[in-house]
Amino acid sequence: MKADHFEQQKLLALADEDVALTQLAHRKRTLPEVAAVEAAAESERTFAEAVVRAETEVRDLDREQKRLEADVDTVRQRAARDQSRIDSGAATAKEITSLQSELQSLARRQSDLEDQVLELMERRETADAALVAAQEGRASAVADRERAEQLRDDALADVADATARHEATRAEVAGGVSDPLLSLYDRIRTQTGTTGAAVLKARQCQGCRIELNGRELAAVRNADPHEVVRCENCGRILVRTAESGL
Ligand SMILES: [Zn+2]
Repeated sequence: MKADHFEQQKLLALADEDVALTQLAHRKRTLPEVAAVEAAAESERTFAEAVVRAETEVRDLDREQKRLEADVDTVRQRAARDQSRIDSGAATAKEITSLQSELQSLARRQSDLEDQVLELMERRETADAALVAAQEGRASAVADRERAEQLRDDALADVADATARHEATRAEVAGGVSDPLLSLYDRIRTQTGTTGAAVLKARQCQGCRIELNGRELAAVRNADPHEVVRCENCGRILVRTAESGL
């Protein structure tokens, strides 16, 4: 293929834009700000789970405490009934003995239940503290995650701005390149994943950094300036300049 030598030079500006766009795409894929959001979200999930566990524990202890208190009430009422039966003077001696024996057993039962209530209250204090700590941890994790999201959004906006700028410049440069040369460039760019042309500098293709051998160099040297020559190694269009070392 032949293309005006000066038009071929424009491919270098196109390649510069494509390098910049490739770097921006890579930067977008590997933004540390994105990983930071994921880490913050993970931490938030961990604290949220801790909150649920602590809430469940507090609820369970509440239920147990209510059950114990109901038991204490039942025992108290039973004791009061026994006592008032004794106090009424209507009970027989045998009945009074039996009631007194029951009152002793109820007193032991009540003391036992009260010990359990005390123990439960201690566990409840621990559970309350754990719940507060988990809630505080979660609140701080939420704030961290929101901050990380803001930083990620800022970074993504920067990448988007730069991408838009380079795309505009690329479109402008591409507008000055004829269709056949441009479509060849684009086809090669798809193959290399970055650029479709590279400068030949000091006998080295700057696309793949391989130095041309004697035969390749002679072929390029003897080619018409308007002939489109390509790197035999990477396939890129080799753009010749005064620094090509020909
Ligand atoms: Zn090359």
